[in-house]
Amino acid sequence: MEEKPQKEWHSISSSDTLNALGAKETGLTADEAAKRLEKFGKNELATEEKSSLLSILASQFANVLIIVLIVSATISLILGKQVESISIFVIVVLAAILGTLQEYQAGKALEALRKMASPSATVLRNGQTIEVPSSELVPGDIAIITYGNKVPADIRLIESNNLQVEEAALTGESLPVEKFTQAIEGDSIPLGDRKNLLFMGTSVSNGRGKGVVVGTGANTEFGKIATMLQNTKTEQTPLQKNLDKLGSNIGIIAIVIALVLSAFSYFINGGTILDAFIWAVALAVAIIPEALPAVVTIGLALGVQRMVKRRALIRKLPAVETLGAVNVVCTDKTGTLTKDEMTIRKVYADATTFDVDGSGYSPEGNIILNGHKVKHGAANPCLIKVLTYGVLCSDAELKLTDEGWDILGDPTEGAIVTTAQKAKIDTEAIKKENPRVDEIPFTSDKKYMATAHSTSGGRMVVLKGAFEVVMGKCSMVEAPNGAQPLTTEVESSINSTVAGFAANALRVIAVAYKMIDEQEQLTDDALTNMILAGFVAMIDPPREEVKPAIATCKKAGIRTIMITGDHKATAFAIAKELKIAHDESQVFSGSDVEKMSQSELDIAVNKASVFARIAPEHKLRIVESLMKQGNIAAMTGDGVNDAPALKKANIGVAMGITGTDVSKEAADMILTDDNFVTIVAAVEEGRTIFENIKKFLIFLLSGNAGTVFAIILAFVFGLALPLTPVQILFINFIMDGLIAIAISLEPSEGGIMHRKPRTVSEGIITRMGLLRIMSLGMAIALVTFAVYYASVTIFELQPLQAQTLFFLTLIFARLFNSLNNRSLNTSAFKSRLLGNIPLVISSIVGIAIVWATTKIGVLQTAFGNVDISINGWLVAIGAGSLVLLFGEVFKLISKDKI
Ligand code: ATP
Repeated sequence: MEEKPQKEWHSISSSDTLNALGAKETGLTADEAAKRLEKFGKNELATEEKSSLLSILASQFANVLIIVLIVSATISLILGKQVESISIFVIVVLAAILGTLQEYQAGKALEALRKMASPSATVLRNGQTIEVPSSELVPGDIAIITYGNKVPADIRLIESNNLQVEEAALTGESLPVEKFTQAIEGDSIPLGDRKNLLFMGTSVSNGRGKGVVVGTGANTEFGKIATMLQNTKTEQTPLQKNLDKLGSNIGIIAIVIALVLSAFSYFINGGTILDAFIWAVALAVAIIPEALPAVVTIGLALGVQRMVKRRALIRKLPAVETLGAVNVVCTDKTGTLTKDEMTIRKVYADATTFDVDGSGYSPEGNIILNGHKVKHGAANPCLIKVLTYGVLCSDAELKLTDEGWDILGDPTEGAIVTTAQKAKIDTEAIKKENPRVDEIPFTSDKKYMATAHSTSGGRMVVLKGAFEVVMGKCSMVEAPNGAQPLTTEVESSINSTVAGFAANALRVIAVAYKMIDEQEQLTDDALTNMILAGFVAMIDPPREEVKPAIATCKKAGIRTIMITGDHKATAFAIAKELKIAHDESQVFSGSDVEKMSQSELDIAVNKASVFARIAPEHKLRIVESLMKQGNIAAMTGDGVNDAPALKKANIGVAMGITGTDVSKEAADMILTDDNFVTIVAAVEEGRTIFENIKKFLIFLLSGNAGTVFAIILAFVFGLALPLTPVQILFINFIMDGLIAIAISLEPSEGGIMHRKPRTVSEGIITRMGLLRIMSLGMAIALVTFAVYYASVTIFELQPLQAQTLFFLTLIFARLFNSLNNRSLNTSAFKSRLLGNIPLVISSIVGIAIVWATTKIGVLQTAFGNVDISINGWLVAIGAGSLVLLFGEVFKLISKDKI
């Protein structure tokens, strides 16, 4: 196989291109594709190098304080304090390993998510149309490209049907470029003029096409431009940025506190300057919440994985935090609130309304007139015409699967094909007899599609779309003895029939036709003076699970606004059923929006529950208006033209099943089941993640504050320095490492969807949060200090015994504090102890090690601990438990929720 012909791909014919690539129009075989994948590599642009475990481990030591600690411990080792110094090394290494595992896991979780969100492409392999991950495309593959696709590789076109592509990403040209298949003369012409080629990274804004892949990965035009390499750097979320800032502020405070306290200790308790210095560094290390970024990333990434299980795919990590603050959800109707299972219930033709029975896409069913089945062969010719023309202007096909009848293609069109088969029309035969020669594809903007057919009577155009749009292009109406003028009387009778259908939540699709000259081009402008063949009215029932989800949103302080391309009356009927709207004054239409000034729209969006007959550009205006007024808005969309609104919204939500690549790429989140309920589930997860981060932050900061306050109290009361560096580092390892992670895994606190959304401007630590950190810190310090003070002054214990008791009490106080912080606003006694197994295990491991450090000789030396009687243990546990009690009382008396 020749990899590149002498000439450029655009300058040779498509068949020469196929030959040059050893390809066939029916596609490569699976074996050949596998071989080529091996040879040419994946169809990917260079991505950021993945960090290895070792490099992550090394980065754990790239911290000034850790380096200072290691250097000082080494000096101390040389000076003979082996056991302590080695213990410091051990703890530092253990902490680094834990940090590495955390970071590695977070990285892997993010990588897995990235893979899941990666696009797929439609190709022909062995003559079969299949979907493959875009990364597996190879030169010679036959790719099928349709409206809304992101072009997955460089492709030489073999077929083009009204194909238009936006190439701004590559050429800067903002207008869509029309593509064709003929060879173009001249070798070095600009990319923008190579109109028989599709380029990776551009997007299809109209039509469809088929072509052979000529370049993949770095061999594409897109791949050649280094500056356009995908930005695969993991973006830091605002929360991560804030916490980084918080971390560095705490860092400075920590160093100051540590230096001051160690100076005190040096003057009061004596010892060497090196000892005081090591102590200071250990304390600084302990106060600084160095685990914060990794724990936040893990919290976010694990939350994102939980969301995947609930069918929401997060594309941009910052979305996770924003999700929890969403207070308005603007949602599509069809397929998101409803099942997108269209079933035609009525057909209108020849001034008569026929009923249709049967269910789903099964062609078994009947056309019924006045309660009687219409017999095969006796059907009204106008009825046959509207259904036949409807089928000609549709692409959907029925197929019998193991689960019953289903459709391939658009549900609205599937419903038409199903009904035609119920009327015993041979849908395949009529398509063959009247081949399609041209088409204008359906778009949400236009709300119609049109096709041209070569029929025995000449060239015919069929138009199918939203009732009032099609009606606006008709001047005649079909009748048994030929087309009749559409008089005002006929029109108003038809309009009232349609209004009745729409009020019953039926979607009305009209079909019109006309004959044209053989040479006449099919253009939008040519769609005038059409003949209305009739219309069909279909039901699309709401999804059962949506109604409760909307009620949940209400309780959670989230407004739901339905934004749909459907008719006002149809939309209102469904909104009423779902309890989104109760009054017609809450319904606005696209034409209303069009007429509104910005300030009128600002008022309308606050009142609206339904926007009907909306075009994608209205969505952008609506979301802008909502956001301008301080709302945090989620907005769903599926079409190419929805992309700007999805990009603009705080949370852009694309549909996984029906959505175009372009909408998916613009979105922050993709619903893999297209279901509204999934948005609500994602919001709940978003709130839980944010709350869990808050929980461990309060746990961590209150615990560290408690440790420092306790040491200060000891100094103030003239007692000996209570903690050794090893003890400090050990507490840090257990609490900031193991327990903090366990808290971030806490399941959702009940009632999270019964509260109002949080205010974004408020930040993660509110004034109330700060108050809780400080008071819990004081509680920890007071109980620990009280035990220490009593053991020195009342029970007159040996200094080492008193210091070990201080250590034990501090450990227990902080462990009890973790129980307290498992829930922020509800009682800790309500959460099941075994509801967080990692917390139970980490606590048991922590206590077991502490026990060992009071029993085993070498550990005793390392930690500076002595054996403690059972009474001592009971005192430590009892005193520590007071922190839990204190925290609970605090929750009870504070009115403000955190
Ligand atoms: P939503 O915006 O809630 O998803 P929708 O399906 O009504 O609802 P669009 O897909 O934008 O929104 O469709 C707009 C209108 O175009 C529909 O209400 C219908 O009248 C018409 N329509 C939909 N699908 C087709 C089709 N395949 N052919 C012709 N007209 C269609």
